[in-house]
Amino acid sequence: MLADGSELPADLVVLGLGVRPRSSLAAASGLELGPSGGIRTDEQLRVRRAGQVLPNVYAAGDCTEVWHRVLERPVHLPLGTHANKQSRVAGITIGGGQATFAGAIGTAITGFWAGRTASRSRSVVRV
Ligand SMILES: Cc1cc2nc3c(=O)[nH]c(=O)nc-3n(C[C@H](O)[C@H](O)[C@H](O)COP(=O)(O)OP(=O)(O)OC[C@H]3O[C@@H](n4cnc5c(N)ncnc54)[C@H](O)[C@@H]3O)c2cc1C
Repeated sequence: MLADGSELPADLVVLGLGVRPRSSLAAASGLELGPSGGIRTDEQLRVRRAGQVLPNVYAAGDCTEVWHRVLERPVHLPLGTHANKQSRVAGITIGGGQATFAGAIGTAITGFWAGRTASRSRSVVRV
């Protein structure tokens, strides 16, 4: 459906959407953002304000930027895998433990499977 309410018939719709960090609240609070617009953190997910690390404020997930270990610069790379690891590091740190999030390398490995089942045989092809 289009913005004017009209509808276009389709069997399949493919969307290619970008993602931007929603960090306006953090920015309004004076937290430092990086060039990607994500909240800048250190390796323990602490955030900074006016050049000072805030000792008890952490950020993790899509609102942050991560260090790209291959490109050697911060990037916005919103993935659940990173959000999961970041939040674990933040939790361990808050609990008094030692953990760091060293960044990401931006690699994704995906398997595509096509399956077919016949009455007396079954075959699965991995692409
Ligand atoms: C369609 C889709 C497919 C994806 N597939 C993958 C994949 O295969 N692998 C992968 O690694 N990542 C994938 N991702 C990305 C992954 O889902 C995100 O990177 C991850 O969920 C980010 O976690 P987060 O905790 O930062 O944010 P979220 O999971 O978005 O959690 C934020 C939470 O905050 C809540 N919230 C928002 N505003 C407020 C408010 N004002 N007050 C209170 N609560 C609020 C929201 O309701 C939400 O529950 C996919 C994302 C999408 C959309």
